[in-house]
Amino acid sequence: MSRNPPQDLALKYHELKQTLSRCARDPARPPELLAVSKGQPAARIRELFALGQRRFGENYAQELLAKAAELSDLPIEWVYIGHLQSNKIKKLVSVSSEIQTLAQWSHAEQLARAVAEAGRTGFKVFLEVKVDQAESKSGLAWDDVLDLSQRIQTELPQLCLRGLMAIPESQFQDSDSAEIPELYQRLRALADRVGDGQLSLGMSGDLRMAAAAGSDLVRVGQALMGPRRS
Ligand SMILES: *Cc1c(COP(=O)(O)O)cnc(C)c1O
Repeated sequence: MSRNPPQDLALKYHELKQTLSRCARDPARPPELLAVSKGQPAARIRELFALGQRRFGENYAQELLAKAAELSDLPIEWVYIGHLQSNKIKKLVSVSSEIQTLAQWSHAEQLARAVAEAGRTGFKVFLEVKVDQAESKSGLAWDDVLDLSQRIQTELPQLCLRGLMAIPESQFQDSDSAEIPELYQRLRALADRVGDGQLSLGMSGDLRMAAAAGSDLVRVGQALMGPRRS
């Protein structure tokens, strides 16, 4: 169908990769780009796939399942970045290979069980740390990160703990020369002590600063794929 992705998408994809290399703390190791496809039609995902993108992030279990079915002819690696709920864990394990929003021991246990039941191993997870005081925000308290990290690594061999993920409010002005926020430096330092030491930080509005802070993985939606239809 979309053998020839539209020029604008190709250009944006190319430019975004260049930006990441230019801004990366270590230019030899720019952050990985996770394309966030929530609110985007399957056709758009096909176009980006045709340009070489393989990993896509989704926030809603329903939407993820529907898209995974519709795009089952493509070897896409789906990553779940939405709020985690017990009753969705089994389904998420059936279609995805990574969950970035783990923040509770009980969910980690359920996840490990579902992975084992599915006959799989090495299911990738990130711990989500809460960087915003608002009650509505999800994630682990800073002080609980290392305990949960250690417990997962010693007790749940079905999971592969990659590192730390955070969703800061985009309160900072992003640019090539922006000063790196202290919060980002603290996140980088904490991530070094979690699992494989990876940091998932940076979205459309702060990807330059996140790259400069040494993020290993940025999650980009609208700056790459355009406005979401909701
Ligand atoms: C939606 C979302 C993104 C992408 O947001 P954009 O502003 O479109 O880049 C990244 N991470 C998480 C956790 C999200 O929910």
